[in-house]
This record gives sequence, structure tokens and C-alpha cells, in this order.
Amino acid sequence: MKGTTHLTIGVAIGSAAAAHYPFTLVNAATYIAVAAFSALSADLDGPSLLSSKASKISKWLHGLLLGSGWLLTAVTAYLYLSDHYINIPLGIACAALLLLGLVVRSGTIRNALVSAVGAALIYGGITMGMTWLIGFGIFVVWVPWLKHRGLTHTIWAVVAWGAIAWGLEQQLQLEGVMQIAVAGYLSHLIADTLTPSGVKWLYPLVKKPFKLPFL
Ligand SMILES: [Zn+2]
Repeated sequence: MKGTTHLTIGVAIGSAAAAHYPFTLVNAATYIAVAAFSALSADLDGPSLLSSKASKISKWLHGLLLGSGWLLTAVTAYLYLSDHYINIPLGIACAALLLLGLVVRSGTIRNALVSAVGAALIYGGITMGMTWLIGFGIFVVWVPWLKHRGLTHTIWAVVAWGAIAWGLEQQLQLEGVMQIAVAGYLSHLIADTLTPSGVKWLYPLVKKPFKLPFL
């Protein structure tokens, strides 16, 4: 299912919450942000709306890696042909850049970038003594490396997400944050269940995807 669809559902849930709970602008914005983010974060396990910036940067980095590798190789070849001179460190740098560029898919660089953001969140959580932020950081570090629609699309992930959101609710002292986060996350899994490939809600206990038979 498309990220924009999940985002729309999340914003709808957040808006409903904003209407339901005592209204202030800050509260409404918080509810909508929490719901929208929760509705999107299950797809951090693949190219998604949330990691599209990272995707762009990683494509660019990948191109830079390969481009500079080929450029240095050309320089090395030129030096050898013109002066019969081989610069060893330069040669090693060429080989390293080319190998990295050829082996690492830009998806891997994207995942590493997302993980780096997660590591920064963990660091922030530790320095500010926020346990929920550490938990959220671990989620962001870990999830990009999971198989798409794997562990993030399970009931266990909903529980973990709820625990993180509970910590956020305690810190903000704002009623409903956890419920809204869980509703947002669940909305993602339900929406994906409506797609042809379905969702493995109980993975790895039950490896079969749940989907609606008439779709
Ligand atoms: Zn999904």
C-alpha cells in the first residue's frame, strides 16, 4: 500500500483524536503527528515515504562512490601509461571505492543512513534520560534491515510500538498518546491486510499471511 494512503489514514485518526480530547492547538498537532508517524513507521523496513530522503541521498552517495572510483582508476591508468608510474595508495583507493560501489546497493546505504538517525535518537535518549526515546531509536536502527512486511507488520511490533508511545505519553503528560499511536500503527497493518499480499500478523509463529479471501 502506498505511503500517502497510510499517511492520510494516520492524519484522519489524529484529527479524530484532536476532536475527541480537550482541544488546544499544541495537543491537536501532537495527536496528528503521533498518529501520522505511527501509520508510516511500519514501512521503515523498505523504501518508504519516511526514508525517501535517505533514498535520494543514498543514490547520490552511491553514484559518487562509483564515479570517484572510475575517475581515480582513469587517473591511475593515465599515470601508468604516461609515466610508467604506479601510485600504490591511489591504486588501493581505486580498488576500494570501486568494490564498495559495486558491492553495496544504494538500498544498503539508505538503510545505513536510517540506522544512523536511529543511533542519534538512542544517544539523545541516553543523554536526556528518556527511556522511550532509546526504545524508539532501537526500532529505527533495527527495522531498515528487516525483510519487508516481516516483523514490523506483526502484533508484536504493535505491542512494542505501544510501549514506546506509553513512555512518550508519560513524558508529555498528554492523555491518549499511546492509544493514538497504537491506532495509527494498527491502521497500517489493517490497510496492508487489504492488499493482495496480505500481512503476516503472527510472524514468525504463523508464517502464512492473513488476507481477505475475496480480494
Ligand atoms: Zn506496510
